[in-house]
Amino acid sequence: MALKRVWISTSNYYNGNNGRRLLVLHSSEGAQSYQDLGNFFAHGTNQASSHVGIDDKVRGTIGEYVKRNNSAWTAQNANMVAVQAELCTPSGASQGWSRQTWLNHDTMLRNAADWLREESNATGIPLTVLTPSQAQGSGRGVCQHKDLGQWGGGHTDCGPNFPMDYVMELAKGTTQQPPPPPEELEDMFNVQFVGSTARLVIPVQYCKGKSKLCLASPVSAQVRLQFSAGKDVTRDLGGDASQNTDIPEPNNPANAQTVLVTLNSGNGSGITGSYSDRT
Ligand SMILES: [Zn+2]
Repeated sequence: MALKRVWISTSNYYNGNNGRRLLVLHSSEGAQSYQDLGNFFAHGTNQASSHVGIDDKVRGTIGEYVKRNNSAWTAQNANMVAVQAELCTPSGASQGWSRQTWLNHDTMLRNAADWLREESNATGIPLTVLTPSQAQGSGRGVCQHKDLGQWGGGHTDCGPNFPMDYVMELAKGTTQQPPPPPEELEDMFNVQFVGSTARLVIPVQYCKGKSKLCLASPVSAQVRLQFSAGKDVTRDLGGDASQNTDIPEPNNPANAQTVLVTLNSGNGSGITGSYSDRT
């Protein structure tokens, strides 16, 4: 489905372009919604703009400030050859955010991927990640602001941990969709919300005979097997819990009284993990 683009006008742009060859991703390092970013660009005194602003609020909706055929003011000498997007992040994200923190903003990343695909379709710029020398030379494709070097203003966004590979997979539609859980799994656990954490409690009878747990969503997660008092085992599944995870002997889950799966979404939103006991 096409992105809904909410128009917020600005006078900070050049008419036309010099032949677009770059799709450039930035982080706003301040405004955390497309509305706030649009209001910032709307002030002529700020002398800055971007084509669109992409936040983590609503899947499928972004802000648009400069039309595609005109040139925004955000990457110095690259402006006339680029179509550009700001990811709405707090100050310090480009240097401070880990890969997992970026991945926790899945709505923003998916909106960004949709924007890349739509711009690629409209302009013919390929969904190919460029090296800095290609981006600063004559390459046609996708890059971050940091890849433009001094020629593009000498900025560091989106940063070293930005998951460009994941966003590009989404943009090209090559990301494997996790298989839907079987119907009977719908009722087999209950979810407790504690602060920013969702805890899935799975009755032990569903774990009998299983030595693997499978979580369908790339969120950080812990699996806690509760045995008799004092013998609980905690297994940290790490940043990407989408792969099957062995529960090692002698802690066979068939002997556990309960299995708790805790999914941490970071900011408390977007908890989409599901549980399956399939092997
Ligand atoms: Zn930038």
